[in-house]
Amino acid sequence: MLKIPTMSAQEDNLKDIIGHAKEYGFVFPSSEIYDGLSATYDYGQLGAELKNNIKTYWWKAMVHMHENIVGIDAAIFMEPTTWKASGHVDAFNDPLIDNKDSKKRYRADVLIEDHIEKINQKNEKDVAKGKKRFGDDFDEKQFRETNPNILRRLKEIKAIESRMKDALDNEKLDDLKALIDELGIVCPVSGSKNWTEVKQFNLMFATELGSVSGESAKIYLRPETAQGIFVNFLNVQKSGRLKIPFGIAQIGKAFRNEIVARQFIFRMREFEQMEMQFFVRPGEEMKWYEYWKDFRINWHKALGFEEGSYRFHDHIKLAHYANAAADIEFKFPMGFKELEGIHSRTDFDLKQHEEYSGKKLRYFDPEINESYVPYVVETSIGLDRMFLAVLSESYKEETLEDGSTRTVLSIPPALAPYKVAVMPLTKKDGLPEKAREIIDELKIDFNCQYDEKDSIGKRYRRQDAIGTPYAVTVDHQTLEDNTVTIRDRDTMEQERVAISALHKIIDNKVSMRKLLMKEKVV
Ligand code: ATP
Repeated sequence: MLKIPTMSAQEDNLKDIIGHAKEYGFVFPSSEIYDGLSATYDYGQLGAELKNNIKTYWWKAMVHMHENIVGIDAAIFMEPTTWKASGHVDAFNDPLIDNKDSKKRYRADVLIEDHIEKINQKNEKDVAKGKKRFGDDFDEKQFRETNPNILRRLKEIKAIESRMKDALDNEKLDDLKALIDELGIVCPVSGSKNWTEVKQFNLMFATELGSVSGESAKIYLRPETAQGIFVNFLNVQKSGRLKIPFGIAQIGKAFRNEIVARQFIFRMREFEQMEMQFFVRPGEEMKWYEYWKDFRINWHKALGFEEGSYRFHDHIKLAHYANAAADIEFKFPMGFKELEGIHSRTDFDLKQHEEYSGKKLRYFDPEINESYVPYVVETSIGLDRMFLAVLSESYKEETLEDGSTRTVLSIPPALAPYKVAVMPLTKKDGLPEKAREIIDELKIDFNCQYDEKDSIGKRYRRQDAIGTPYAVTVDHQTLEDNTVTIRDRDTMEQERVAISALHKIIDNKVSMRKLLMKEKVV
């Protein structure tokens, strides 16, 4: 049947996706009966399945498919010196500012960036006007390069950006405040310019250990999973008899007290990371950095989303510990944003931990007969952002040939929460029993759903809306010849097949094997 997409995934409104995610049990606002907690979400029955499948895809590709990578599960709480050594106590800050009238808190740099965006929009408006006025004769390039208003605004933007960069790099908080005043930035809520001074705000959540109180008992919820890997570097290397190059992977929760947390599960205060630290011989890090950039983008592309949905963004300004860094950005409904980071972190973290712990964190390399602190290349992806990428890319509203519409989640089958729905055509004549018999056979390998309520058409639509790749219908003929119809979510085509053939057909489509085969392995 012909399908005309009425909206492309990227034009979808984030609101529609959020509404769909809630309606079908993917993501709920946390503690909703108490009106929720800002930027905190719970994964529902289908969300938990999708999340687990993404984790499995990552873990298999990173750990099981690489004989020199192992996975660990470190504690969220760590000895607080860890965070002193990593630099998080002193430098994991954002500059914040409060509006005295609305009592709302903002990131000073984000306020300035929003102001810059407004200036940009004025330019875009002028370009649009020109296009409208001159039609096909309009030379946009020339207009942008010569129009005095546009040039003046671009100059203004450059000046603001360079002043902000200088203030941020050199921690000149007074200058950030002065810039906000000079630009006349108003609070989006109160509309006033009644601002406090700019303060540094540490993003780590702190709590106290046991019944003791005071500074000495202060511990943190980890803001990244990476440090749990660094402090275990020697434990894992020795107990696993690992030889460099080797990697340690981990999936786990991280916590950041983000000043402005918004855009659904894109930026939360409690989120999950999938990180891998790859330990290499000093001097070989760039080779591995390129390898991991390549491997990670292939991991994403194997899912079959649009080619244009990804782009690399190389960091121009590097963190003090990095000698190369790039983000994989994804085209979310709100535009291209960071999904994953690949960082060459040098020997910074291990050296810091050596200094603060007084323990040697070195590796004796038998091949060159030398002992050294390894260099590290890291891949770090937010599980929740990956979840949002899958959801937003899969969400489609289609108009069918007969004029009716359907909402479908074309989730890559290997990640879909349910792999197959089995439905008796009616609730009698032994059809439900037969359907359950089929499920009993399939459920060992595939997550199956049984559904007997409503018309078959409605049931198909329900399965489309939750992304189930196959729907199997049991009818009266099934009782006679052990055949069923199997319907494909994407093509909506139906085929009559033997029950005995189901396992193979489904496995062929939903197995993670194919995804994993597409990737390059060390
Ligand atoms: P951003 O610039 O968006 O704040 P970051 O550069 O601070 O992100 P990293 O410290 O590199 O992020 O963390 C690695 C990954 O963890 C990111 O690529 C992202 O996918 C995820 N991540 C970071 N912060 C959050 C958050 N608040 N909510 C959800 N995921 C996050």
